[in-house]
Amino acid sequence: MINKILIANRGEIACRVIRTAKKMGIRTVAVYSEADAHSQHVKMADEGVLLGPAPASDSYLKADLILELAKSLNVDAIHPGYGFLSENAEFSKACADNNIAFIGPSPDAISAMGSKSAAKSIMEKAGVPLVPGYHGDNQDPEFLHQQARDMGYPVLLKAAAGGGGKGMRQVWSDDEFHAALNAAKREAQASFGDQHMLIEKYLTEPRHVEIQVFCDNHGNGVYLFERDCSVQRRHQKIIEEAPAPNMPQSIREQMGESALKAAHAISYSGAGTVEFLFDSDGQFYFMEMNTRLQVEHPVTEMITGEDLVAWQIQVANNLPLPKQQHELTLSGHAFEARVYAEDPDNDFLPATGTLHYLNPPTGEDIRVDTGVVQGDEVSIYYDPMIAKLIVHGNDRQQALAKLVSALHDYHIVGVTTNIDYLLRVAQSEPFIQAQLTTDFVDRHNDLLAASNIQTSASHQALIAFIMLQSNQSTPANATAFSDLSGFRVNHPQQTQVSFAIGEQEFNLNAQRVGPNAWSIKIGDEQHVCKGSLNDSSASVQVNMHNIHSRYVFAENELNIFTGSGLIKVTLPIHDFDDDEHAQTAGAIAAPMNGTVVDILVHSGQTVAKGDAIAIVEAMKMEHSLKAPFDATVVECFFKAGDRVDGGATLLELAPLESE
Ligand code: ADP
Repeated sequence: MINKILIANRGEIACRVIRTAKKMGIRTVAVYSEADAHSQHVKMADEGVLLGPAPASDSYLKADLILELAKSLNVDAIHPGYGFLSENAEFSKACADNNIAFIGPSPDAISAMGSKSAAKSIMEKAGVPLVPGYHGDNQDPEFLHQQARDMGYPVLLKAAAGGGGKGMRQVWSDDEFHAALNAAKREAQASFGDQHMLIEKYLTEPRHVEIQVFCDNHGNGVYLFERDCSVQRRHQKIIEEAPAPNMPQSIREQMGESALKAAHAISYSGAGTVEFLFDSDGQFYFMEMNTRLQVEHPVTEMITGEDLVAWQIQVANNLPLPKQQHELTLSGHAFEARVYAEDPDNDFLPATGTLHYLNPPTGEDIRVDTGVVQGDEVSIYYDPMIAKLIVHGNDRQQALAKLVSALHDYHIVGVTTNIDYLLRVAQSEPFIQAQLTTDFVDRHNDLLAASNIQTSASHQALIAFIMLQSNQSTPANATAFSDLSGFRVNHPQQTQVSFAIGEQEFNLNAQRVGPNAWSIKIGDEQHVCKGSLNDSSASVQVNMHNIHSRYVFAENELNIFTGSGLIKVTLPIHDFDDDEHAQTAGAIAAPMNGTVVDILVHSGQTVAKGDAIAIVEAMKMEHSLKAPFDATVVECFFKAGDRVDGGATLLELAPLESE
């Protein structure tokens, strides 16, 4: 019996496995790199062991070290998650040799599927339909060229050892062939150290539909229906769903049976995924089999109500599968959106940084699988996936509505994410109509691009209102640092609000018309805004229209999460060297509502530009305030523990005369 599992992985999948292990009363061991010492998977596990420095080759890929640790900690089984060692046949074998259960298939099954060309030969023999193509050993360029001509263009060159879309090239005409072959070989050599190529007929409008299979060590096998993963960028999935929309029951069954044939052909055991290309004419073709738990397994869990990690552990315990085919039912519809730290407006370039603010959606039928919390770092060392957002509904339409609303409620500040891009996909007409093909992202590039629509007047008014009410603006008739909070009935306060969105600058005039009300001039029109700000949520009525949105000040940015996505507002920076008032006034204001953690200086003390002078905590984050110039402290108005409103003067500095 498995009583203790080592999870040879990190991030969300390590947390995911630990959650089920805990439920089953199994003890867990986390392994981690130096970069992950404080991460969630380490906190959740019963024990944790440091592997080494951040790069995966020095930590999560150290098979020998992981095995040694497993032995010394009396671990019964190793769960490899996905990526890293999950499809490493030698590691699976080493585990078996050391009497530790590898929670995955046998070394032979992994090897059989490790090469795309060898896998195709096995599938061909087993009678599983293949994309027409050549997957033999003859690698002579002229021979391959002739094969391509015979099957007719377009064709797809694929590295036999490939994965992650690497070593793949489309060839659309005869004269492109050799250049494409050489490029694909170079990429394959660099990525996998193996130039072996296969050629397939390139299907122009296929869907990527895959079947979740499960087999035990007693000859039983079932399929847990299909997932449609057609929406991909750079051949990598971004939104997956189950079941595949518009899938005739007869094809579902045929595909399921074919997938099981594929699994039985290699005496498979455990969780596996058989990927198919599903063509517009209803034909489907085997693409490859992934011999591990997939990233997108939660959508299958949502529609079947099964816990696939629990199934994996049951199979590793040598028990029969928990259910037979006729006991499995498909209920409702599920989506998974992968939230990545990346910039969709810049070719999906991975982004890094600190998750200064992280507020994931919650609610019924919403599941967020993640390994990070607010304050964590997205580093260069690992996959930049922040989380998987999974939703379930009674049907596709309802699930999609939940996906859209949950994406709206997913708020991240500090790292560029693809959330707004995912929203554009989920709200696009072709996605709503389930017109899914693997070229969805390229085909609808224009539709999905961030729009450069002018910021609407009501959004400008909302931004101005938030800045005014949190004292982030400059009164037109006062010095830059005088007290802004007073409302005097007979002295309407005139204020100018300046900010920028991207390249566009805004300078708006505003007049206070009540304690929580402003009239803001945009173009020729006055917009009356009233409402309240409360702990980073704004409830504002703009011209009788109610807007509720969350906002976060971070550094010199105001981030507002609106119904049309995130608006990043750049706030003006007070440059004290140029400021005409700099010589006479030096009020240091609290950046937002919060609590004073510490005032680090006292009256009369001299401070140098850049010295930390106070610490304020807001939204569970500490903000250190620094002296903007060399100065003497005139007076401190607050002490540690005091609550402070954003914009209130914390302390007064007098600049030192420069020589
Ligand atoms: P990798 O293992 O590198 O991820 P796959 O063989 O799984 O490569 O293919 C990745 C993606 O490439 C598929 O999901 C599909 O979008 C596309 N693809 C693969 N083969 C074909 C083909 N013959 N015709 C059209 N698209 C294909």
